[in-house]
Amino acid sequence: MTLLEVEGLCVNYGRIEAIREVSFTVPEGSVVTLIGANGAGKTTTMKTVSGLRPVRAGRILFDGHDITSMPAHKRVELGITQSPEGRGTFPGMTVLENLEMGAYTRKDRKATARADLDRVFGLFPRLQERVGQAAGTMSGGEQQMLAMGRALMGHPRLLLLDEPSMGLAPKLIAQIFSIIREIHAQGTTILLVEQNAAQALKTADQAYILETGEIVREGTGKALAADDSIRAAYLGGDV
Ligand code: ATP
Repeated sequence: MTLLEVEGLCVNYGRIEAIREVSFTVPEGSVVTLIGANGAGKTTTMKTVSGLRPVRAGRILFDGHDITSMPAHKRVELGITQSPEGRGTFPGMTVLENLEMGAYTRKDRKATARADLDRVFGLFPRLQERVGQAAGTMSGGEQQMLAMGRALMGHPRLLLLDEPSMGLAPKLIAQIFSIIREIHAQGTTILLVEQNAAQALKTADQAYILETGEIVREGTGKALAADDSIRAAYLGGDV
């Protein structure tokens, strides 16, 4: 079943066309990635799916319903949860308080918040060790884990991950991606936006390549990772 369908999406910043005629689908239970260089339009696409940017043209369907004009908070209630670029944790709040914030969107949260917390601690044991620490005093990698953990507390039907590897050392990047694969294996559908094409293609069922606001290629993660022109342009031959 198709969980998210984006059709002919056009988004502007004033007169600047950030994305043009972008179309892609995210089947339920899959990991789909959008990869592209700086400024290609990845973050804009993600923000538009989560309802933070208005659409100039095109449609967004979630679970068969048109959500193109739906406000962001309603999309969160439907189960579309974003772990934003730059992390966006609350620096003065503890790890636990940040995670609890993530559960606020749930109507049934009392019954299930404990189970969600256990799941998050299972995926990120480091967060359990640091449960009372202020988020702002943690390392970049730990804050990334916290942002992802907070998004999972909302028990998303669609988890939006915007550049989870940004600014992290290679060893941590590998760790974050192996956790993303585990989240997927547990049944969560994921839309992943990444500059780290090597890891993203390794993780994704289906991948789309964005260049200056347009999708120029699509294919399975495996096929694109094996394609010579993609390797030369995005992978530096290192996969
Ligand atoms: P990055 O990896 O740097 O976040 P990106 O692929 O996510 O890049 P976007 O941030 O979506 O790209 O930007 C797409 C285009 O829209 C770029 O040309 C960018 O300059 C422009 N843009 C993004 N945000 C704004 C803004 N607030 N005002 C004007 N133009 C913007």
